[in-house]
Amino acid sequence: MSDSSLRLVWVYPDLLSTYGDRGNALVVERRARQRGLNVQRIDIRSDQPIPTSGDIYLIGGGEDRPQRLAAERLRADSGLPRAVDNGAIVFSVCAGYQILGHEFINDLGEREPGLGLLDVWSTRGEGARSVGDVLAESDPVLGLPTLTGFENHQGVTHLGQGVSPLAQVTVGNGNGDGSGTEGAWRDTVFGTYLHGPVLARNPAVADMLIKLALDVNALPAADTTWYDALRAERISAVGQGA
Ligand code: GLN
Repeated sequence: MSDSSLRLVWVYPDLLSTYGDRGNALVVERRARQRGLNVQRIDIRSDQPIPTSGDIYLIGGGEDRPQRLAAERLRADSGLPRAVDNGAIVFSVCAGYQILGHEFINDLGEREPGLGLLDVWSTRGEGARSVGDVLAESDPVLGLPTLTGFENHQGVTHLGQGVSPLAQVTVGNGNGDGSGTEGAWRDTVFGTYLHGPVLARNPAVADMLIKLALDVNALPAADTTWYDALRAERISAVGQGA
């Protein structure tokens, strides 16, 4: 943390905020406040410069055209790579995840460069869109409980040597490249296809981001009753084929 307050940056809410991904910012903010932290949340629209002094950056999903516009602006801005160089944590979802990779296929059917912050690249799936609930078991290094979320994407993401899969799917497609993996991560940069919002369904992931920002191994306990109810409801709905 730069000072006594946790600086949380929500990147481009005007372009990248599908399926309630804004909830990720609310959950990190809430989980941090529950631990007595002073949180400064900064929403950065796409016509504003990305600050380089944030502690945690959150990026959501988006439709294909806003995704291209966001990638163009993030490349031109260069604040996000500089923030990562400064040790910032980045957690990205779906379109945001694809933008953090080397390239993706844009709404014009062309290869669009990403930021290269994750060693992944995305192509357009030839088959049906990946739509539906996902269950996945996280990389054991991260020590997270079963991940739950829902996916809705045409893109297929391929992982290079420079990242680890975030998780292995047990239900759903995730990266969709035939490897059975979901998302990717390296050091402080994370990408996932999961919406939900994913941090509302998986508060342990929000806590992981806060722990990384504080550079601590544990946080004081905080009530998870509401999250536990949501998790149980969604996990059982998947079991019943919902
Ligand atoms: N446009 C991207 C795709 O379909 C991402 C979609 C999303 O963010 N929901 O792959």
